[in-house]
Amino acid sequence: MQDAQKDIASLLPEELTAALRDMGEAPFRAKQVGDWLKKGVWDFGEMRNLPAALRSRLAEEFHLTPPRVLRKQVSQADGTVKYLWGLGDGNAVESVVMRYSYGNTVCISSQAGCRQGCVFCASTGLGFKRDLTAGEMLSEVLFSQMDSGMPVTGIVLMGIGEPLENYKQVIRFLRLVNHPQGMNIGMRHISLSTCGLVPEIRRLAEEDLQLTLSVSLHAPDDETRKTIMPIARKFDIETLIDACADYFKRTQRRISFEYALIRGVNDAPWQAEKLAALLRRTHGHLNLIPLNRVEGSSLIPGDAKSFAEMLKKLGVNVTVRRRLGADIDAACGQLRRKEAT
Ligand code: SAH
Repeated sequence: MQDAQKDIASLLPEELTAALRDMGEAPFRAKQVGDWLKKGVWDFGEMRNLPAALRSRLAEEFHLTPPRVLRKQVSQADGTVKYLWGLGDGNAVESVVMRYSYGNTVCISSQAGCRQGCVFCASTGLGFKRDLTAGEMLSEVLFSQMDSGMPVTGIVLMGIGEPLENYKQVIRFLRLVNHPQGMNIGMRHISLSTCGLVPEIRRLAEEDLQLTLSVSLHAPDDETRKTIMPIARKFDIETLIDACADYFKRTQRRISFEYALIRGVNDAPWQAEKLAALLRRTHGHLNLIPLNRVEGSSLIPGDAKSFAEMLKKLGVNVTVRRRLGADIDAACGQLRRKEAT
């Protein structure tokens, strides 16, 4: 793994200034470097307003590798753009830029691969490789925006990986992308999705960030949840919902629960009732996702419209998520670490 101090793209502006000060450089040099990074010039040799000697010293002290576009797909249906990015060490991850009426949102990956093993998700199929650094996550946002020409106003950490398992780098990424001297993306325009790591949800509550937390629930009862999400064996629903209720109390930010509807698994009326009770306890909102088909899986989508009706009658605040980029396998649960060969 890479040493965070040496990874220049992961440094906050004030840390960059300190690092250059330690090299005997004036603050305006840090500003110049920061400006190049922000423009996507991720090659010290091309930072033309720096003296040649400084450029080569920077190249010795730090590593900096821009992600390479290994594949780009544009949805004919809705203009969604999906990238497969090649990282410095040969790993690859996907990001997706989605067009909404209120602006463009990029969905980024937080790990190369995933170890959570949810049975309905393609991201888990090729195993886990490593955590991404904050700078790599930032590069997904910056380079997706630059290459697509679509200005990004929102971010969702809903791509490959479990963001709360890569806690430190994810928090660093949030501070980087939110920084006024950086991309300056508002916390309220950022969502982070977790499969439900309870200690980290509690820790996140203490960070005082105005982001939106999404929790992948997918079943209101332990028995069902354990059959589709291995994490459910570690934390039962009671423990998870307690943490979510406390999260709301502390942050006053409503949690958005994700629920991919699977026919015959989690779409029964008694499950709708149980789900409604859980949501009341947390003051949460339900995001119903029509299950996306994943190769090699026999699970089939449930009827989202009628399940949503059932929930509404029970007083649940529910929306059915739109499927963007389905024709290019860019929808929820369809992102993979690498193209299957
Ligand atoms: N590891 C995090 C981040 C992934 S977010 C998490 O689990 O929340 C991706 C969202 O898409 C999660 O809610 C995930 O459960 C959901 N998802 C995965 N596979 C899906 C599928 N085949 N159809 C619909 N949603 C899916």
